[in-house]
Amino acid sequence: MTEETEISSGLITTQGLTFAYTEEPVLRDVSLNIQAGEFTGVIGPNGSGKSTLLKLIGGILPVSPNTVFFKNHELGHYKKRDLAISIAWIPQEKQMAFSFKVIDIVLMGRHPYLSPLSFEGKNDYQIAADAMRQTQVLQFAQRNFNEISGGEKQRVMIASAISQNPEVMLLDEPTSALDIKYQMEILNILKQLNEQENKTIVLAMHDLHLASKFCKRLILLKEGSVFCEGSPEEVLKKEILEEVYEVKVKIFQDDADGSLLVVPGHS
Ligand code: ADP
Repeated sequence: MTEETEISSGLITTQGLTFAYTEEPVLRDVSLNIQAGEFTGVIGPNGSGKSTLLKLIGGILPVSPNTVFFKNHELGHYKKRDLAISIAWIPQEKQMAFSFKVIDIVLMGRHPYLSPLSFEGKNDYQIAADAMRQTQVLQFAQRNFNEISGGEKQRVMIASAISQNPEVMLLDEPTSALDIKYQMEILNILKQLNEQENKTIVLAMHDLHLASKFCKRLILLKEGSVFCEGSPEEVLKKEILEEVYEVKVKIFQDDADGSLLVVPGHS
């Protein structure tokens, strides 16, 4: 790493992060701290900047100097390979079109560990098989990725991320295309990775009830800015959601686990 500004904070920090694809910024002055071991949901209306934020903190999009930090060092100062070992980014399901076998996708998680021109060894196959067992996709190992269902694709991508053994997993709407069984399955896998392996999880999510059920902390974006952040109880409030989503809502609490259900269309 070269000389750089250091910042004392969380595992991932953004500081006055502004980003534009063209001229108009789609993220404005975003300052956040994500601590190691957190399970954080990024919520907000369509186009509020959730995907863009994940891509920036995952090193997928280029960041300006002094705006994004990982372990107190500027993201831009990390070697691509070091970053790939530490942070896994899983795109939205609709962006997953890979004409490879499932096993090859999972083995891609091992690539940052391989030296140039070398091939995966027995240990890499073992790690990939364990990851596929964990997400229950081992039976699809030889299938073409493009020929499995949306839920299976998500599980394969998570297996690939597990075999990468990152500290942080960033997932862009991992459940939005799935039925409720697969939604629960994916979120329970992530919960397990968070609780048992201390992985830091950051998810962009649409479903506010699932966000409240699984995330310990929520970041609510509106038009590219952080509108508020805090626990699900602090963020999922009637007046906040009505202002951000521009729709009347009613909020119920599930007696079983205290999670919040946001129902639109009530005056
Ligand atoms: P969200 O994930 O909350 O739906 P996005 O981060 O995808 O929001 O998008 C934020 C804004 O950036 C939107 O206005 C979107 O149209 C725009 N945007 C996203 N990707 C691109 C791109 N590749 N080029 C230009 N504009 C983009």
